[in-house]
Amino acid sequence: MSPPRVRTLIVGAGIAGMGAGYELLARQENDFLLLEAGPRPGGVIATEAADGFVFEAGPDSWLGMKRSLTQLCRELGLGDEITASQDRARQTLILRNRRLLPLPPGWQLLAPARFGPIAATRLLSWRTKLRIAAEFFSRGEPQPPADESVAAFLGRLYGEEAVEYLAAPLLAGVYGGEPEELSLDAIAPRMRAMKREGSLGRALWRNRRQAAPAAPLFSTLRPGLQRLVDELARRIGPGRLRTRARVEQLRPSAAGWEAVLAGGERLQSERLILALPAWAAAELLRSFDTALAAELSAIPYGSAMILSLGYFQSPPLPPGFGALLPRREGKRMLACSFSHRKFPGRAPAGGALLRLFYGGRRDPAVLELDDAAVRELGLRELREILGPLPGPDRMRISRQPRAMAQYTPEHRRRRERIGTLRRRWPGLGLAGNAYQGIGIPDCLESGRAAARELAMPGESVAPLLEDPAGISPG
Ligand SMILES: Cc1cc2nc3c(=O)[nH]c(=O)nc-3n(C[C@H](O)[C@H](O)[C@H](O)COP(=O)(O)OP(=O)(O)OC[C@H]3O[C@@H](n4cnc5c(N)ncnc54)[C@H](O)[C@@H]3O)c2cc1C
Repeated sequence: MSPPRVRTLIVGAGIAGMGAGYELLARQENDFLLLEAGPRPGGVIATEAADGFVFEAGPDSWLGMKRSLTQLCRELGLGDEITASQDRARQTLILRNRRLLPLPPGWQLLAPARFGPIAATRLLSWRTKLRIAAEFFSRGEPQPPADESVAAFLGRLYGEEAVEYLAAPLLAGVYGGEPEELSLDAIAPRMRAMKREGSLGRALWRNRRQAAPAAPLFSTLRPGLQRLVDELARRIGPGRLRTRARVEQLRPSAAGWEAVLAGGERLQSERLILALPAWAAAELLRSFDTALAAELSAIPYGSAMILSLGYFQSPPLPPGFGALLPRREGKRMLACSFSHRKFPGRAPAGGALLRLFYGGRRDPAVLELDDAAVRELGLRELREILGPLPGPDRMRISRQPRAMAQYTPEHRRRRERIGTLRRRWPGLGLAGNAYQGIGIPDCLESGRAAARELAMPGESVAPLLEDPAGISPG
C-alpha cells in the first residue's frame, strides 16, 4: 500500500513553518501537513505566564519598524494585544571597569549619528573619540572590499576600543554573535555605501530624522509571543499540524518526496518545505544531495541560554532597559534586560523581571551547566554588576542550542549557491533564520515566501538581506 499523501509537507513548526502554513491557507491551498518534532509548535518562541510574570523562553519582542508582523497580528485579530516598548525609559548601559555607563545617545548599532554624546561619554578614551571625530571629517573610501566583518570595518574607521565597547556587546546581545565573524552587509546593509560616498558619521547625522522611528522601538503581545503561535496554530488547525512528529529521513520519490518519521511512518508529498535550522535541513538532505547539505551545514549557529529572575518587589536597579557586558570585562553574561521596564505587565505591580542572556558563539558550553550552577552564576555576576541583590522569587531557565544563524561575509554568496542547488529539486522550499534575516518577522516572511514560490513557481522570493536581521537585545 502506498503511503498517505498530501500536496505540501512542511517540516518544522517554528515561526517560519507556521508562516508557510498560514500562507498556504491564505491561498486556499488547504492540502498540507505541518510536522513538528517537539511537543508544541513555535520553535524557540515559548511563553509561560505564572504568578504575574511573563517568562519568555526565547525572543521577547520584534522590532517595531518591521511593520509586516504588526500588520499580521492585526490581521489575526491580535491588534488590541500589541504592546509597545516604553521608549521613554529607554537607555542601554554598558559595563566598563565595573561601572555601568550609558551607551552614547545617537549611537546606531555600529556608528554614531552625533558627536556630542561621544565627546561626553566615559566609555571611550580620548584616542578613540578623536578617531571618531576625524571620521566625521573624512572622505569616502572609493573602493572598500566587497563585504567584510563588522570588526574589520569598524576597526579601520574607529579603532579596536569602539569594536570592544560598542559593537561587540551590541552584537552579542542582539545576535549572540562576534564582530570578527558577522558580515557588515548583513548587519547594516547601507553602511558600506554610505562610507563609499564620504563620512559615515555625517551621513548618519543627515539621516537621523528619517532614522528616528515613528513606530515603537520594540513591539510584543500582552500575553507574550506564544499568543501569536497559538493563533497561527488555531487557524492552521489540529488536522494539519502534528507535534511529536520528527522527520528522520527524506528522499525524492515518484510523487515528489517521501518522508520517514521517527517510528517508521511514511508520508508522501508533491512539495516539501524545510522550515528548519540550516544544520537540521542539511542532515535530512545529505543522503541525496551532499553539495546542498555541505553549503547548509557551513552556516554557523550560535546557542543561547536565558535565565529569567522574577521579583515580587523590585530590587534597586539602575535606569533603563538593561545592560550589555563587553567580553573584555570578563563576565560570561552577555546582556541583562530589565523586562518590566521594557514592556508593561511583565511582572506584578512593583515587581521586576530580569532576563539574563548567556551563550552566543563565544560560550556554547554554558548551556551544559545544570540549573543550580546557572542560578549561582547568574546571581553572582548580577551582584558584581548591580551590587547586593536578593535571590529571586521565581526563576526560569531556557536553553536553545544552535538556534541563531550567523551571517558571515560569505553568507550572501553561500545563499546564492544554496538557491541554485535547491532549484535543481522542483517542489523544494527552504525557510527559517538561515537565509534572509534572523528576527521573527523575517523568519515568518521566509516561510510565507517559500510557500508562495512553490504555489506559484517563478514568483521570486524576497531578496537576500533586504533588511538587516534586526532583533532586540536580550
Ligand atoms: C534566545 C533567543 C532570543 C531571541 N530574541 C529575539 C527577539 O527578541 N526578537 C526577534 O525578532 N528574534 C529573536 N530571536 C530570533 C528568532 O526568534 C528566531 O530566529 C526565529 O524564531 C527562528 O524561527 P524558525 O522557525 O526559523 O526556527 P525554530 O524556532 O528553530 O523552529 C524550527 C522547528 O523545527 C523543529 N524541527 C527540527 N528538526 C525537525 C525534524 N527533523 N522534524 C520535525 N521538526 C523539526 C524544531 O523542533 C523547531 O520547532 C531570538 C532567538 C533566540 C534563540
